[in-house]
Amino acid sequence: MPTDTTTKPALSVEQARERILSGLRPVDAVENVKLSAAAGRILAEDLIARLPVPAFANSAMDGYALAGRDLPVNGERRLRVIGSSLAGHPFMGDVGMGACVRIMTGAMLPSGTDTVVMQEEVRTAGADIVIGVGHRIGENVRLPGSDVPTGSRVLEHGRRLRPGDLGVIASLGLPEVNVRRRVRTAFFSTGDELREPGVKLAPGQIYERNRYTLSATLAGLGADFVDLGVVPDQPEAIRAAMKSASQADIVLTSGGVSVGDTDYVRQVLAELGEISFWRVAMKPGKPLAFGRLGDAWFFGLPGNPVSALVTFQLFVAPALHALAGESYREPLTLRAQTLCAFDKRQGRAEFPRGILSRKDGAWFVGSAGSQDSSALSVMSRADCFVLLPTEAATIPAGMEIEVMPFDVPA
Ligand code: AMP
Ligand code: MG
Repeated sequence: MPTDTTTKPALSVEQARERILSGLRPVDAVENVKLSAAAGRILAEDLIARLPVPAFANSAMDGYALAGRDLPVNGERRLRVIGSSLAGHPFMGDVGMGACVRIMTGAMLPSGTDTVVMQEEVRTAGADIVIGVGHRIGENVRLPGSDVPTGSRVLEHGRRLRPGDLGVIASLGLPEVNVRRRVRTAFFSTGDELREPGVKLAPGQIYERNRYTLSATLAGLGADFVDLGVVPDQPEAIRAAMKSASQADIVLTSGGVSVGDTDYVRQVLAELGEISFWRVAMKPGKPLAFGRLGDAWFFGLPGNPVSALVTFQLFVAPALHALAGESYREPLTLRAQTLCAFDKRQGRAEFPRGILSRKDGAWFVGSAGSQDSSALSVMSRADCFVLLPTEAATIPAGMEIEVMPFDVPA
């Protein structure tokens, strides 16, 4: 891995992301899990249908099953109702010409029938029904394999399983599925000033935030995590924490990666592992250390809570997807018109926090408030990142720009 010296200029967001992703290979261990526990897991195999779905011709409507040849070309036709076929209770006899069977949605089509006429479109007459013109042979019938033909590839490996996917797998009769093991992460915060919520603060102390935002984000992305707590700004303490974290696939820290007098994270990383880079030309989030710690990938996130979340979304989330073996998908973005100016320095990418609104079918974005990277309440109130590219200068109100909504998984 190329190593960084402090004299190198900061990487662009794209360069940093490329540097990170180029080395990552998916975890290869595979687990067989019950379907009921497979939501959000990454499929480790291509699923080929061994059965057709549906397995038998069945009715799409409540009505009458009959032979299409019995449909009238003109006038009306009277058919004798000789039985019924309910979901789970098929009619096992044969249906000849001039006869039909009462049938409910999902019930198997009886032998001799190929068409279902909706009950709203017939008239009953004692034990008979009367059908008029305007019907088509084969109507209201779901043919075997019309949803999933036998032999088709239903789902591809690398897919993050969604609720609908689980239903499809169940429809093939499979109770379990092979998924990749979860990515293991370990994280700790650094900072002598940090205390857990619930204790009384002494002057100069603040409540820890980053482990709460990070653990929730990791859980949402389906990663396992070990929370190693708050570590003081002491090289020995950081060293010990890094050593115990290094069994993970990804190690995350927050704070202590900048150029302050008590920023020891990079120094310890250089000693125990390797630094690939530690600065990215972006706001918020400039000090972001990336490297290797044993077999783990190391991300030293900035301590400022907004910076920690932004750098997580931009760099750690794609790394997690790659390690998890998930097929690559661009994050969803929207085009929106700015409701205010967004101050911007040319030469770095900026990600102000915005609030989306919609009017007459178009999206608009305003500022969520202070763009200071410690203002976590503004991030909490916001619903998107405004994506301001490196080359842009200040963006005036009324411009079309791109935004990345928060509630779409990155
Ligand atoms: P650092 O990156 O360690 O220089 O921290 C930058 C700023 O973020 C400082 O104001 C820290 O007090 C604050 N900070 C660092 N870590 C956390 C944390 N885990 N929770 C809340 N604030 C933090
Ligand atoms: Mg600090």
